[in-house]
Amino acid sequence: MQNKTFAIIKPDAVESNNLGKIIDIIIKNEFTILNARLITMSVSQAEGFYAIHKERPFFHDLVSFMCSGPCMVLELEKPNAVKEWRSLIGSTDPNEADDGTIRKDFAESKERNSVHGSDSDENASIEINYFFKNEI
Ligand code: ADP
Ligand code: MG
Repeated sequence: MQNKTFAIIKPDAVESNNLGKIIDIIIKNEFTILNARLITMSVSQAEGFYAIHKERPFFHDLVSFMCSGPCMVLELEKPNAVKEWRSLIGSTDPNEADDGTIRKDFAESKERNSVHGSDSDENASIEINYFFKNEI
């Protein structure tokens, strides 16, 4: 168990002015924001980030969506961060997400689902490095 995870507040949530509300939820749930940056992903950045899904039928749409506007990338800290953040965001499909989860409250669809969360400690480290390692 590692105490860090990687999150994205996705373009749909920024576009619908839910960025501040989601940051508030992050803080109320006692995550510490170690790093955060508002970016607009390039196609190559989004393709690299979601490379694991490159054979999936939704890959092209997913990359377009992730590049469609600004999103916020965050490094979060909390004991058992990966599991805690995944349980706070809820299921990929908002129709299947539990009440009180971020995706239940903010997501529009399975694709435009407002937030990302790393699915393992190993991927959390890879994803944090992917967006933050070259920072000055
Ligand atoms: P999660 O983000 O919950 O870990 P996945 O890793 O399976 O989900 O998928 C990555 C992202 O790809 C999802 O968050 C969602 O934006 C998009 N996605 C997943 N499945 C679909 C689908 N069937 N149709 C459209 N978009 C999808
Ligand atoms: Mg995933």
